Amino acid sequence: MSRFAGDIAVVTGGASGIGLAISTRLVEEGARVVIGDINPESLRAAAISFGGAVVTQPVDVRVEGEVEALVAAAESLGGLTLGFNCAGLGAFGEIAELSEADWDTVIDICLKGVFLSLKHQARAMRRSGRSGAIVNIASLNARVPMYGGGAYAAAKAGVEMLTRNAALELAADRIRVNTVSPGLTDTPLTAGFRDLQGAEAAFMARIPMARWGSPRDMAAAALFLASEDAGYITGSNLVVDGGWETTGYPDLKPWREAFRAPGA
Ligand code: NAD
Repeated sequence: MSRFAGDIAVVTGGASGIGLAISTRLVEEGARVVIGDINPESLRAAAISFGGAVVTQPVDVRVEGEVEALVAAAESLGGLTLGFNCAGLGAFGEIAELSEADWDTVIDICLKGVFLSLKHQARAMRRSGRSGAIVNIASLNARVPMYGGGAYAAAKAGVEMLTRNAALELAADRIRVNTVSPGLTDTPLTAGFRDLQGAEAAFMARIPMARWGSPRDMAAAALFLASEDAGYITGSNLVVDGGWETTGYPDLKPWREAFRAPGA
């Protein structure tokens, strides 16, 4: 398949999990890809496994100059046409306990990082004069609250609304902007859930399809939204969750001490 032959893409958080699956599929389908990530080891591993088929560049999506430089790396390949904004983290903290610093970290990475990425991708797409598509990765938590997820869910709800505003402002430039909202997806971010006694079963009891999503499930949805097949879709949020939105979250209180633990 070469759905994306001639396209040049930036993928933030592209060295792991969902972003890595998106990068892999983009390369398989003919795009040239610039992967940006804050984790140097994952970036190195991605550079080795893609064997020169991608450009890798360190980026902290909270820092505007670094985001601008990442987009410039893609532009130097011939003009940006696709943006996938996947950088994010997991975060747990009940609102009554949450520190200002932890709030700021989550909002800065998950929401401000998407704003900065969108801003510079949109400018580069305007400069290219070609049509473009941007897909932001939010979460089911944009719609469904999670015990201990106040900052994360608020950031992800912000991503959904930011996407709709961007769709409104960029349509005249032939730039479409959409959101993918994953449910429980099997990536390094959620690997720890399997070790928490009973937690996986509690999730599965709420997910009608009773399985984890795979990073490839999310990549398939993201690439659909970026493709010509979605040519009349902008400002949407595609929830990819095995039906989980129909039932809501399990009660995570039984695992709150484990989630609070460093590294959880
Ligand atoms: P992951 O940890 O495998 O990948 C996230 C990547 O983002 C990592 O490579 C990390 O180094 C990078 N990153 C973190 N902070 C960064 C920063 N400041 N600048 C640049 N890169 C940074 O996790 P994933 O599950 O693939 O998550 C991808 C996205 O999907 C995230 O936005 C996450 O919130 C969202 N999401 C994941 C799930 C899930 O169940 N895994 C569910 C809903 C939403």
